[in-house]
Amino acid sequence: MSKIDPLTDGHRRLIRDVRVSVTDRCNFRCQYCMPAEGLPWLERDAVLSFEELERLVGVLSSMGVHDVRLTGGEPLVRRDFPRLAAMLAKVPGVEDLSVTTNGFLLERDAEALVAAGINRFNVSVDSLQRDRFFEMTRRDALPRVLRGLEKLATFPDAHPIKINAVGMRGFTETEIVPMAEFARSHPYQVRFIEFMPLDADHSWDPSLVLTGDEIRAAIHEVYPLEAEPREPSATARVYRFADGKGRIGFINPLSEPFCGDCDRIRVTAEGKLRTCLFSLHETDLRGPLREGVSDDELREIIRDAVWRKELKHHVNEPGFRQPERTMSQIGG
Ligand code: SAM
Ligand code: SF4
Repeated sequence: MSKIDPLTDGHRRLIRDVRVSVTDRCNFRCQYCMPAEGLPWLERDAVLSFEELERLVGVLSSMGVHDVRLTGGEPLVRRDFPRLAAMLAKVPGVEDLSVTTNGFLLERDAEALVAAGINRFNVSVDSLQRDRFFEMTRRDALPRVLRGLEKLATFPDAHPIKINAVGMRGFTETEIVPMAEFARSHPYQVRFIEFMPLDADHSWDPSLVLTGDEIRAAIHEVYPLEAEPREPSATARVYRFADGKGRIGFINPLSEPFCGDCDRIRVTAEGKLRTCLFSLHETDLRGPLREGVSDDELREIIRDAVWRKELKHHVNEPGFRQPERTMSQIGG
């Protein structure tokens, strides 16, 4: 086989990371993502099959996209998800296979997912208080999520485990110090993510963004922090507690955008390629996959779309338009 060129965009960024949504469905209704009543789900045959996902991931990895994160919706609600994970772990060129989950089904699936070859897990937890967790996710599920986390932590191959919390003004302030204490007393790295305009209710407003810097300052007052060196194209700024007890991270896409070294693309559950979380344009891959195009043809379609990858997002600029899709329909 002739050598395949790496995947790059028109701004000379090398694409190494794909976020693959395996379902748009979810068993939670987080305020910053879904409406309370849920969304109209995709029909079953609209969603890419395991075989289609396997082929697509293979084609991407042949172009140097070696990091694959499985997400959704809630990936663990996809039937037989551990079998899909095992299929993707075997795709040549896939070096890192990770999952982002709300943790609700981790108690059931952690063992099978680790055995399948998932080597990194991000678990979303916005509060450690049961009533506040319920308020944010609209599900009374904190004890179950924490049990899932404990189960996951028993597998050495699953570490490091990362916990994601969205920072929303008016909600997160009271969660900051308990989250920092959680990071100090468990083998988890807690990361705060700024609230982005990808919510179903379109209630996002700049004033609702609790910035990473504000959260960091609040923690630093109680537990002093020291910055760790930033890795290239890492989304999180990581700090360690000065007394050596654990680490904490901040993902600041709005207050400190990291678009300049973005190496990511996304594929939605129904096979639309998105080159930015905030893309207003997407490229259909399911049609070509089902029409039987060759791998070379598929690579050309992907290259062409990725070439036009957005230079940066325009949140907070005049004229910004929120994408039609919610975070759950994109794959965060
Ligand atoms: N259901 C899984 C979960 O919650 O971890 C995976 C999909 S979820 C869309 C992926 C991540 O996006 C989660 O960590 C969630 O907190 C985050 N997220 C969702 N909506 C967001 C928003 N509007 N702003 C920032 N992060 C958001
Ligand atoms: Fe579901 Fe994740 Fe969205 Fe919450 S953030 S509603 S768990 S997809």
